[in-house]
Amino acid sequence: MHETMVAESILSAIVAQAAELNAKPISAKISCGQLNPINDEVLNFAFEAAARGTVCEQMKLEVVHIPLKATCKRCGENFDFDIYSPACANCESEDFEIGPDAPLLLEEIEFK
Ligand SMILES: [Zn+2]
Repeated sequence: MHETMVAESILSAIVAQAAELNAKPISAKISCGQLNPINDEVLNFAFEAAARGTVCEQMKLEVVHIPLKATCKRCGENFDFDIYSPACANCESEDFEIGPDAPLLLEEIEFK
């Protein structure tokens, strides 16, 4: 399962930072793109299971979904691509180019 692998890599990154700072992590924020979406609930569940018995036990994970960016070929507008209304936010042209998807990132960790 995709989320399990994600949870494990996030966990090991947090554990490493916690050891370096000698602090207990209480929450973390991660962000991901739209083409490779993470199911928040499944990820939280996988993380909880992976974190059991580690310094990360009881931590809270927050997942932020970053919208895809698109650039209009007619007017040059840069807008958030919406799969339900795929058109330029400025001129409504459907001739646009979709930018790269946001990678999965560990944005910040909050320590006690
Ligand atoms: Zn446009």
